[in-house]
Amino acid sequence: MTLTPPPLSNDCFALPQGVDWTPVDDALALLRDRLGPVTGAERVALAEALGRVLAEDAVALRSNPPQPNTAVDGYGFAGERAEGAHMLPLIAGRAAAGVPFDGVVPEGQAIRILTGAALPEGVDTVILEEDVRTDGEQIAFNGPLKQGANTRKAGEDVAAGDVILPMGRVVTPADLALASATGLSQLVVRKPLRVAVVSTGDELVEPGQQAGLGQIYDANRPMLLALMRQFGFEAVDMGRIADDRETLRSALDDAALRADVILTSGGASAGDEDHVSTLLRDAGAMQEWRIALKPGRPLALGMWDGTPVFGLPGNPVAALVCTLVFARPAMGLMAGAGWAAPQGFDVPAGFAKRKKPGRREYLRARMRDGQAEVFKSEGSGRISGLSWAEGLVELPDGAAEIAPGDPVRFIPYASFGMG
Ligand code: AMP
Ligand code: MG
Repeated sequence: MTLTPPPLSNDCFALPQGVDWTPVDDALALLRDRLGPVTGAERVALAEALGRVLAEDAVALRSNPPQPNTAVDGYGFAGERAEGAHMLPLIAGRAAAGVPFDGVVPEGQAIRILTGAALPEGVDTVILEEDVRTDGEQIAFNGPLKQGANTRKAGEDVAAGDVILPMGRVVTPADLALASATGLSQLVVRKPLRVAVVSTGDELVEPGQQAGLGQIYDANRPMLLALMRQFGFEAVDMGRIADDRETLRSALDDAALRADVILTSGGASAGDEDHVSTLLRDAGAMQEWRIALKPGRPLALGMWDGTPVFGLPGNPVAALVCTLVFARPAMGLMAGAGWAAPQGFDVPAGFAKRKKPGRREYLRARMRDGQAEVFKSEGSGRISGLSWAEGLVELPDGAAEIAPGDPVRFIPYASFGMG
């Protein structure tokens, strides 16, 4: 079974007329409005389903538990017992998990029963082994004991026909337990979103190569390719592209054929060598998003042959922040997993900072001793700070005067799906 969603419209990144600096939330709301799933579906075995996005609701084929059973090792009989001493004759045989007792347990008698065993006919209550004395012929114990004690009802966890996992869910190991327990051996999942990653810049060389004067190693591509894999996407490595319009044009053509989304880094602003923004503008489907965000600008969003392009800033710090804040939720929608707003936590600041109004800021941060500490420099060329950090502190759009101990919003990298 394959499901092919409709193509995205060419103007899906169009910004309202006359808008200059777009607040982060408005930009996110726009993406959320305009994007939708672009991937087809396939049926896979449970063993293949981890991390995949459910393309339809998963429905229990069988109840859990399927039959009433015992939650403990002990002795089973019918009905409650009042306070005081009780003695019951034991019948021959036993009920164990996977080896049910076929006969009927007569009223007023008991049977040996082991955890997970289906309750035999005539048993609705179980006394815990540790609370019983026995000589093999009879059991003795003290009440009170409620009817149904130490047993599990059929379907008390899940009933056959219940939706166990909703469409759009990203399958976890626990989901595999639930699906398996309720009789499913396969799940219908979306094909992974294919994300092409392109680095642009004449100055870039490949790690391992000799780097000459003025050259730097490509830091964005290894980061973005790895990040796409952590997001559960299929990363398509398009390599490094020189600052040459025609080379970039054919790289974008190629990427649009091979991927559902294109992530470029570098060349997204309005300079002479900023060919990503120029090409997208020429294609008539370019929007330069002047987002009120630090670090972040410029972010170029456009469509290339019907394929969305996120033109990330070249700066690795800005490239990562833009990917986590903008590209990830947008790509989550395209992957069929819905819009994933990262979960942040209000924690005491371990720093002081004065911030001007007008743009949202993300600081490289980590939690130590119950406080958020921030990297010593806000310089966006400081790649070491990305690696030092374990998350981002998000400062609101307005002005802020933060003193140590004031609450700030900390978003762990893990909340962005980054390990
Ligand atoms: P750009 O956006 O192309 O003007 O690049 C902004 C800054 O980021 C420049 O200093 C670039 O050299 C640097 N840069 C661009 N791409 C990369 C990359 N893939 N790895 C490391 N630095 C980069
Ligand atoms: Mg460049």
